[in-house]
Amino acid sequence: MDNQLLRNIPKVDELLRTIEQCGCCADAPLQTVTEAVREALEELRTGLKDGSLQALPDADALCARIAALVRQARLPSLRGVINGTGVVLHTNLGRACLSERAVAAVNDAARNYSTLEYDVQNGCRGKRYAHVEGLLCKLTGAESALVVNNNAAAVLLILSAMAAGGEVVVSRGELVEIGGSFRIPEIMESCGCKLHEVGATNKTHLGDYERGINENTRALLKVHTSNYKIMGFTKNVELDEMVALGRERELPVIQDLGSGLLLDLSPLGIQDEPTVQESIRAGVDVVSFSGDKLLGGPQAGIIVGKKCYIDLLKKHPLHRAMRVDKMTLSALEVTLRSYAEGTALQEIPTLSMLAAQALNLRERAERFQRALLDANIEAEVVAEWDQVGGGSAPTQLLPTYAVALRPKDGSVDGLERAMRIRERPVIGRIAHDAYLLDMRTLREDELPCVQQALKESGLV
Ligand SMILES: *Cc1c(COP(=O)(O)O)cnc(C)c1O
Repeated sequence: MDNQLLRNIPKVDELLRTIEQCGCCADAPLQTVTEAVREALEELRTGLKDGSLQALPDADALCARIAALVRQARLPSLRGVINGTGVVLHTNLGRACLSERAVAAVNDAARNYSTLEYDVQNGCRGKRYAHVEGLLCKLTGAESALVVNNNAAAVLLILSAMAAGGEVVVSRGELVEIGGSFRIPEIMESCGCKLHEVGATNKTHLGDYERGINENTRALLKVHTSNYKIMGFTKNVELDEMVALGRERELPVIQDLGSGLLLDLSPLGIQDEPTVQESIRAGVDVVSFSGDKLLGGPQAGIIVGKKCYIDLLKKHPLHRAMRVDKMTLSALEVTLRSYAEGTALQEIPTLSMLAAQALNLRERAERFQRALLDANIEAEVVAEWDQVGGGSAPTQLLPTYAVALRPKDGSVDGLERAMRIRERPVIGRIAHDAYLLDMRTLREDELPCVQQALKESGLV
């Protein structure tokens, strides 16, 4: 009986003809369809042999299965998701989303030949970094600027070019580990410089830095403790004191600023994050920060500071190895233009999401709740707190609103999974025995898709 069924399994060619007739995979390449057909047939054979399948599916069911396999095979592994976590700078979800302007600029640079290293005025070779240098200097007040792949690379380049073979003085309270094994002490070692720790974890005084300086010292380093905060009985040396000490001893002062904020966000309730302008104004010689944290642009490491040091970095061989591509540069240029034109808060998603007021988020949550109810899905509107994410403003919590869903049958975990494993994954969070979708990071235009996903889960 099994053998008879096995013999009735269609041949690859037959099935390919059936698929062609039904047109369900019309836009897929033949090779992918053929592989899916083989896979589907193998599934049938296995099912018949192990008894999990009692009869052969009809042609429609087979076509549907093959179409699903083709869709799955063609789905990019790296693809967009819908972020319902409320974490604006979610490192695992790609940190900052680019502005519409930046997306358009990347598109233009990616599709076409570009002015990347071409000076159209003079018809000769141009400079790759000229597109952003002027803007960076204008926005931060620095003399000179440079861009590399990310801030970790920026720190590596700075220490390699300015301190190799010597010592760098750092406060014990600032020996930061950023995710993915970026640790200040290890970075130092790989740059061939020696870390000279001073002070205690909770307190470092100017005198500690003074005593830490010897004939091998090449620089003083300040690291923004972006992803943690030491509270209580603490003492930090102010930037201007450090700059004064650096001047006196003729040592450059370097700062790893982490996020690289260009706007004062304290009116939005984000108090802890220093701006790049403050560091430059205080006289720090070289400042580095990320492009895709609070700045809200593409992944990049931005370095601004005194021309004599930036020139040194530009000449270092590592600089060429850390070169950024045209898509990064075009996104960065246009993101910086939003700041220069005073439209950053409206145009840059990172900033507008952080700026969203609880009242507006509540209204959106209530609107979404009503839309869900019209689709026969019950949800509750709940007040919550959001983290900024991306190792920025770690102690800052922003008031927000979410819709909470409790499955009618099935578990909250099951709902979370059903939402996550879709072609366009929806990522929520679980709290108080409910599945939460936070309004801060959900775009208005994503809500219908979220609603569809909830419906299709069959769990709510
Ligand atoms: C995030 C961060 C880095 C690493 O920046 P990337 O752009 O992710 O490489 C380095 N230092 C500090 C203080 C940071 O917060």
